[in-house]
Amino acid sequence: MPSYVVLLGPPGAGKGTQAERISDELGLAHISSGDIFRENLKNQTELGKKAQGYMNRGELVPDDLTIEMIKDRLQRDDCKAGALLDGFPRTPAQAEALGKMLAEWNGKVDCVPYISVPAEELITRLCGRWTCRAQGHVYHEKFNPSKKPGVCDVDGSELYQRDDDKKETVERRISVYLEQTSPLIEYYKKLGVLAEIDGTLPIDQVTSLMLKALKKG
Ligand code: ADP
Ligand code: AMP
Repeated sequence: MPSYVVLLGPPGAGKGTQAERISDELGLAHISSGDIFRENLKNQTELGKKAQGYMNRGELVPDDLTIEMIKDRLQRDDCKAGALLDGFPRTPAQAEALGKMLAEWNGKVDCVPYISVPAEELITRLCGRWTCRAQGHVYHEKFNPSKKPGVCDVDGSELYQRDDDKKETVERRISVYLEQTSPLIEYYKKLGVLAEIDGTLPIDQVTSLMLKALKKG
């Protein structure tokens, strides 16, 4: 049976950072909805053009487009064993749709690590985040700097600051999270799969708590 893990938490909580570190260990493909949208934006595909305005404003891309994109992605070969979902679902409608599609494939959401971090800390994290052009590896200028400034340790590509990591857009993204995504905490708690993780701890400690929650630690 395939295994699906959903990483929940506000923008800047550390979902991408942790996914990079644990996806191999779990044997699951790391599927980041934000990375897929950014790739489409870069290549100016139809989906990218439709998503652009929402992303620039720090708002959510409509559910129908997002659900279709993820459904398509989860059917590729690298997701045969399941997936580590980062940034999806972000609304109750997306969570319902995910449950339905996984049931069709004899799967379900097995565990939802919820990485909690207070809003003030999120702003500091996102405004100091540097992202790798080639594959989206993430760094922080103070909390997790690359060895060589401006260069990705993993693949040597250039690091850049995302357009939506400027303060005004970060504030909008956090309020969108509180309004539209935070109800998923209760949703997954009721399903008995939520594991709350203190995301204010140093990165390595968060990783070991995550692996414990996923019973791999
Ligand atoms: P998300 O994917 O949830 O939006 P990221 O993984 O991109 O968040 O992390 C946001 C920023 O915070 C990055 O710059 C990252 O290096 C930094 N970061 C992640 N986890 C921690 C942590 N536990 N402590 C301090 N900084 C962190
Ligand atoms: P992220 O990389 O997760 O911070 O996502 C960047 C942007 O992509 C978000 O601000 C949204 O505009 C869009 N996005 C990513 N995932 C979703 C989703 N599940 N639903 C709607 N929009 C999304």
